[in-house]
Amino acid sequence: MSLAHGRPYLAIPGPSVMPDAVLQAMHQPAPNIYEGDIVTLVEGIVPDLKRVAKTDGEAAIYICNGHGAWEAALSNLFQPGDRVLIPATGRFAHGWADMAVGLGIVPQIVDFGTKSTIDADRIEEVLRADTERQIKAVMFSHVDTATSIRNDPRALRAALDAADHPALLMADCIASMACDEFHMDAWGVDVAITGSQKGLMVPPGLSFVFFNDRAKEFRAANPRVSRYWDWVPRTEPEAVYQYFGGTSPTHHLFGLRAALDMLHEEGMERVWARHATLARAIWAACERWAEGGAMVMNVSDPALRSHAVTALGLGIGNGQKLRIWTAENAGLTLGIGLGMSTEDDPDGTGFFRIGHMGHLNAHMVLGAVGVIEAGLQALQIPHGHGALEKAAEVVAQPGAVAF
Ligand SMILES: *Cc1c(COP(=O)(O)O)cnc(C)c1O
Repeated sequence: MSLAHGRPYLAIPGPSVMPDAVLQAMHQPAPNIYEGDIVTLVEGIVPDLKRVAKTDGEAAIYICNGHGAWEAALSNLFQPGDRVLIPATGRFAHGWADMAVGLGIVPQIVDFGTKSTIDADRIEEVLRADTERQIKAVMFSHVDTATSIRNDPRALRAALDAADHPALLMADCIASMACDEFHMDAWGVDVAITGSQKGLMVPPGLSFVFFNDRAKEFRAANPRVSRYWDWVPRTEPEAVYQYFGGTSPTHHLFGLRAALDMLHEEGMERVWARHATLARAIWAACERWAEGGAMVMNVSDPALRSHAVTALGLGIGNGQKLRIWTAENAGLTLGIGLGMSTEDDPDGTGFFRIGHMGHLNAHMVLGAVGVIEAGLQALQIPHGHGALEKAAEVVAQPGAVAF
């Protein structure tokens, strides 16, 4: 017998659960793409996106996934031969670096492994050593979705300032935006990118590049930018056809409008606090399971963990078995381990991830914790006891929220 029939919970780190309000907003005929309501819609969306990123800079919307946003940002700012510095704390930094290589940009990767955050002092040293000021940007993942490490943009800003280095600070916020606290302007980030399908709760297919005046100077000095990625037309929503480089992503925009309404009705501070508290409930359970059991949280220090995704180890084969069990028997789809393979476990079958981003509340989290507990029991994977009680305690008494 399967107990999976009922509303499923897709707990992978993107795409995330889509609210009914978003899905319903998309269920309508196509509008005129040249004039009328669509112009007003885009003009209204842009400021509300900026309120999510906490910036007074520009927001460009692209029809693509996060990989497209990686390329869009790079295409505007750099030319072949330009050098960029990439501190890596997991697979996604390497992905962005690879995108740079494809454009002839030369990345210098400083790898901090998969279990700890970027050491900003080390980055400061590298920047100081760049006496010719050849490094054009420091590019990093705010949250690396593979390892669930959360880096601190402020530490990198401080490193750039301490080294008195003019490079841009560029943040990949695809996993973190609208989940983990982020203030683009106040934290000194020059370029931030994100996608629609994680904290923004919209289907995959839109992504966003936020940029400030310093980034605009880089773009202005760039002699050649691919027409499609050029962000200049994408700062003028009144010319909506040119804004999107062609037909607008009409239905995604309807969904995005509904999602932004939900986020701003709740308020960004409360959205971050909700993610922080629900993440703590999940970790409280994981810490219990780990006691005397097979489970290992990838990031041991809670202060360095993302509030959007948690990466876990469970012993070779067990991560995969648990994922299959929860999906088949209980309607809970957990995320695969990503970029965590070892010599003994080349396919990373010992790892899994819990996505806890976006449209998420206490009953979903407690349900997921209960189902994982059942899976551990059914599969006879050794685990500590009392996980559900610990998670419930966090929900019962969330206390003061630190992000
Ligand atoms: C999801 C994600 C990406 C890739 O986004 P796609 O939409 O799959 O192209 C890049 N960086 C981070 C940090 C992500 O979480």
